Amino acid sequence: MTSKQPTARPALDWEYAPAPESAAIGRLRERYQMYIGGRFVDGRGDDVKSINPATEEPLAAVSTAGIADVDDAVAAARTAYQQTWSRISAAERGKYLYRIARGIAERARELAVVETLDNGKPIRESRDVDVPTAAAHFFYHAGWADKLQHAGFGAAPAALGVAGQVIPWNFPLLMAAWKIAPALAAGNTVVIKPAETTPLSILVLAEIIADADLPPGVVNIITGAGDIGAALVNHPGIDKVAFTGSTDVGRQIQASLAGTGRKVTLELGGKAANIVFDDAPIDQAVEGIVNGIFFNQGHVCCAGSRLLVQESVADEVNEKLRARIVTLRLGDPMDKNTDVGAINSATQLATIRSLSDTGEAEGATRWTPPCPVPDRGFFFPPTVFTQVSQSMRIAREEIFGPVLSVLTFRTPDEAVAKANNTPYGLSAGVWTEKGSRILGMASALRAGVVWANTFNRFDPTAAFGGYKESGFGREGGRSGLGAYLDTDDDAPPRISRGAAAAPGDKVAVAAAELSDAAAVADAAEVLADAAGVATGGHRERSVAPDNSAQSGIGSTGHSAESAPDSSRRIAVAKTYKLYIGGAFPRSESGRTYQASGGADAAIKANVARGSRKDARDAVMAARKAFKPWSSSTAYNRGQVIYRIAEMLEGRRAQFVDLLGRSPDDGVTVDLAIDRLVHYAGWTDKLAAVFGGANPVAGPFFSFSTPEPTGVVAAIAPQADPLLGLVSVIAPIITSGNTTVVIASRNEPLAAVTLAEVLATSDLPGGVVNILTGDPAEIAPHLASHGDVNALDLTGADGALRTELERAAAGTVKRVYARSTGKDDAAQDFSRAPGTARMRAFLEIKTVWHPSGAVSLAGGTGY
Ligand code: NDP
Repeated sequence: MTSKQPTARPALDWEYAPAPESAAIGRLRERYQMYIGGRFVDGRGDDVKSINPATEEPLAAVSTAGIADVDDAVAAARTAYQQTWSRISAAERGKYLYRIARGIAERARELAVVETLDNGKPIRESRDVDVPTAAAHFFYHAGWADKLQHAGFGAAPAALGVAGQVIPWNFPLLMAAWKIAPALAAGNTVVIKPAETTPLSILVLAEIIADADLPPGVVNIITGAGDIGAALVNHPGIDKVAFTGSTDVGRQIQASLAGTGRKVTLELGGKAANIVFDDAPIDQAVEGIVNGIFFNQGHVCCAGSRLLVQESVADEVNEKLRARIVTLRLGDPMDKNTDVGAINSATQLATIRSLSDTGEAEGATRWTPPCPVPDRGFFFPPTVFTQVSQSMRIAREEIFGPVLSVLTFRTPDEAVAKANNTPYGLSAGVWTEKGSRILGMASALRAGVVWANTFNRFDPTAAFGGYKESGFGREGGRSGLGAYLDTDDDAPPRISRGAAAAPGDKVAVAAAELSDAAAVADAAEVLADAAGVATGGHRERSVAPDNSAQSGIGSTGHSAESAPDSSRRIAVAKTYKLYIGGAFPRSESGRTYQASGGADAAIKANVARGSRKDARDAVMAARKAFKPWSSSTAYNRGQVIYRIAEMLEGRRAQFVDLLGRSPDDGVTVDLAIDRLVHYAGWTDKLAAVFGGANPVAGPFFSFSTPEPTGVVAAIAPQADPLLGLVSVIAPIITSGNTTVVIASRNEPLAAVTLAEVLATSDLPGGVVNILTGDPAEIAPHLASHGDVNALDLTGADGALRTELERAAAGTVKRVYARSTGKDDAAQDFSRAPGTARMRAFLEIKTVWHPSGAVSLAGGTGY
């Protein structure tokens, strides 16, 4: 760069001398093999040449897998899981991870060179970000291996088995570390496939793993293209799938895994908003914008690719941004001065070009700095689009290149609306000096990571992952570890219903809730009196049901013994309607079906048969209720749920009667009441138990906090029509979600009567919407509905479950379904609840803020 001087003094030449790193440090070999069962082996596929995207020269030949190699790798991982990895002590496992971390640190310079040669990213980034962060992930997870019981997933969380992992080309070594380290720490073995264009650094990692003497088969690395990735994730020998890549492929994977019961996490694309307010420190914000979109050539899922600037400072920001971009150095990634390196592949370059051309064609104004672009290799200059509208493809689609779309806003609400106006939800940035605005924006933005006055910060302790179609599951921190553990903690010792029917059933419940044998005696002692009073009262009412309670529920009005006679009053027949938005509309279908309840099915009623339109209305009501319910205080939500429990208690006899007066029914109603009390008490503890401060490196404050997912569509279990229903609804709404639930088809009376309880409680209309009818008819509309964020498939089995899981993949919905092999436990609602049902519908949001002066470089001042 040459600075222009106003006087006649000779201009100073600030041009940097080239400072290339030596490619020889990478010690590249001519050919690389795959790593299976602790040996470097040839695959059955054809060799491919990995090329240097900065020169288009071949770097090395790489052997690739055939389908049979996937079988071999999965078999090696299974054997290692069964014979060694699950048998050695957790502390020893940790030491292996520690060895790998040390190995990465020792070969850091070599790894950085290999990464830059193979990927095209600037050596400065490989050296300062990718490699050290990869080592840090192994160090961090080494420490977890023997502390899993403290991770918040129950007393003895178990490994899942064999993890099948597929990673992309943008951070090859770092993504490998994000995947392998938590899997191993949790006790799983791994088969991992890198992207076809960037296999080299993970094959160097294989050498480090071999040098660490990791038992054979614990980590297996197979190379190849998407077909091998597909074979891996669909392999029947895999217990857990972890994928990072495009949303399209993520959707395909979710759909193909429907019905398998396999645990899956998806880290997909993004279209992050980087929001600059007029009170922001503009110079630092400009650095953050540059870092947000040009780091790694914009090949970053969380890249700040949409800049939202407050209108009053838009000109200033644009001007300063352009002045800064002009100084960026594009070129040889091996040069330590380079800021913007090579695009990873010819295909990706074509994608970026084509989407950028669309931007111009749709009317946006394109600007690039006058920077020379090398003749060879895949390069794309930093590009800024202004005059962008939200409907343009460059504002909606992930470009995955150094292309920034600039939009403006006037008010914070407009900024939030625009930022959230995307199917993605991976990350966001906020630039402002106002602390309260930072926290307000952080909570309003539907994104898994929010950086305030900084951008693109990563740390192994801080959870990272998306909302909405950016995928589900987290990587890093406690939540990331949970993705590799069997965290289904809903199966402590069972309460015997028969035994609990005797006075003292609350003792059994309380003891089971404590889930500790030693606590049973204590619980009995503490609750003895209360049990006598409470259950005695209940039993009395249940033995002598109050028939007046039946008058409103379509009862025939006579008991089995009473013979019909001409003087008998015929009860008014009742048709139960749906419960939507706090009101009781008829089904749009106009159809009903007959349901019965009570002893000998004496109670008969017509129940609405919900339709597609009803499902849509219910989703609209649930969406409308979401904002107020999720932003009400945890204390208030707790109070509302306690109140529902109180009201249910008040109508206990009616529900016992409805259910049929078997000895179990009193217990079931009691358990349903107590379940509500249990979850009411959770509302104000979720943040403390599932969130926390992250001790990240550097001068930053970072915390992770749970947030509700949104609208959850649920299918209540067919059996256990009250307790099952309450056990499904309560954990969903506890954290602020709203729900549309399809009641038990054959026994809907408890649900429709519960709707009456809800309608007269303090629960705002729309938080819980209850549909009756055939789940097979209604549920597919909910599973494919764009405004439903998650599914609870507790009551869906077999073909219906598979169909719904497949439909959920269309918009990457989170799905809670019973774990394979544990069906009985998960369906036995008399068991004390764990936390899995609540966690299924929580998003973990991580918020970052510099601690000290607002500065990207340091931030050590005050
Ligand atoms: P993909 O999602 O296709 O690739 C990611 C990984 O998945 C690669 O290892 C790939 O193999 C593998 N893969 C491809 N198809 C399947 C499949 N059906 N089943 C299992 N694994 C599969 O991303 P692309 O590389 O094609 O990039 C396309 C676009 O995706 C980019 O332009 C960008 O927008 C986005 N992307 C987003 C990423 C993110 O982190 N959010 C990361 C990468 C891309 P192989 O590459 O060898 O074919």
